[in-house]
Amino acid sequence: MKQFLDQNFLLKTKTAQCLYHEYAKDMPVIDYHCHLSPQQIADDLMFESLSEVWLYGDHYKWRAMRANGVQEDYITGNKTDWEKFQKWSETVPYTLRNPLYHWTHLELQRYFDIDTILNGDTAKKIYDECTAKLQTPAYSVRNLLRKMNVKAVCTTDDPIDSLKHHQKIKDDGFEIPILPAFRPDNAMNVSSAEKFNIYVKKIEAVTGIAVSSFDDFLFALQNRHDFFASMGCSVSDHGLEEIYAEDFTGSEIDAIFNKVHGGKELNEAEQNKFKSAMLIHFAEWDWEKGWVQQFHLGALRNNNSRMSQTLGPDTGWDSIGDFSHARSLSKFLDKLDSNNKLAKTIVYNLNPADNELMATMIGNFNDGSSAGKIQWGSAWWFLDQKDGMTKQINTLSNMGLLSRFIGMLTDSRSFLSYPRHEYFRRILCDLFGDEIENGELPNDVPWVGKIIQDICFNNAQNYFNWKLDAKPVAAKKVTV
Ligand SMILES: [Zn+2]
Repeated sequence: MKQFLDQNFLLKTKTAQCLYHEYAKDMPVIDYHCHLSPQQIADDLMFESLSEVWLYGDHYKWRAMRANGVQEDYITGNKTDWEKFQKWSETVPYTLRNPLYHWTHLELQRYFDIDTILNGDTAKKIYDECTAKLQTPAYSVRNLLRKMNVKAVCTTDDPIDSLKHHQKIKDDGFEIPILPAFRPDNAMNVSSAEKFNIYVKKIEAVTGIAVSSFDDFLFALQNRHDFFASMGCSVSDHGLEEIYAEDFTGSEIDAIFNKVHGGKELNEAEQNKFKSAMLIHFAEWDWEKGWVQQFHLGALRNNNSRMSQTLGPDTGWDSIGDFSHARSLSKFLDKLDSNNKLAKTIVYNLNPADNELMATMIGNFNDGSSAGKIQWGSAWWFLDQKDGMTKQINTLSNMGLLSRFIGMLTDSRSFLSYPRHEYFRRILCDLFGDEIENGELPNDVPWVGKIIQDICFNNAQNYFNWKLDAKPVAAKKVTV
């Protein structure tokens, strides 16, 4: 029997072990989409307790605790950090086979050198040991990034963000680029006239541009797009239920804007037209600047209205939606491609039923201008687990080129989430190792090792056109 979470965790064959240890393990990490706080990096924050770094804001853990019957007081309520940690620790043994179980123990091992299984009995010792370590400079957030061999991070930022924290990080000369990503979801959300107009006021304030027409609004947003570019941004991101690809005319959008700006609510058809227009404008700006655009599609959010109203968004009340993506995604990408304005694009689906759809859709718009121009993003959110990642990798292999995949990202709010890259790499190496040993792939370990290194790091570096301070990891000659 294998040991739990030993050095060959998830690596069933000798070839998989060789691929992981000799090729994948030491490759640097590019985290091209996450939700880390730029302020915490600017401040080079040190966390006060393991609860702060693990439990503040981690809605994956919150959902598990709720499912385990833990009262909200111990999750988002007023209980102390220790009391909350104790409840989480008591929950951990009940998370067997959920990725949280693996993530929790990988994080304890990789960051804190702790091999002990976390449960109610071991909680105090682990809490004290980790909390003590977190007080030392080695555990400042910048050092946590260094420890995990991270070479670039893209945060997720609203166009109205001043990016002052990014500026501070740059001014400090921090060697890991912490780049903003332009996420204009709020600028196209016209489901409430009141909220939209509050946003318009904010963009007026930040740009000094008075907005009285749709053209003014676009001009102000483009001003922010330019500003983000001047701050090193080269990536946009959109979190949408679905792609909006309605036909529209300029005069229709002008009228819709005037209506909502005048405080009147839009009907659904008007909202969809407006969102369709915004998406095209954003996409064209991205293309003009040579940015990469990302679309995270298919989350049905805030399903529990009682709790969402109490705790706000991103507190664990979201699920997989069953939106219909094919026609609108096709129409949107085709419109841009027809005008020769299709930027490099990454699409992520939340519903695994859409895997084959996504894997085949990206193939329609690769134009030979660069390898893997249109990417189907890594298994995301609810799919970011062994089964979900395996299915994404297999479907991409079957219907596209896995070898050109730009690989994993954390999409996390936590500085302790980087072992998710390791998790992905182990699964990837295991799949290749299995097929080499089965005779389904040639026993050409250096070539397969090179492809694995590309998926771990090189493809992303080339895709985003970043010249990162990363020493290449030599492909080693290994006999298995
Ligand atoms: Zn995200």
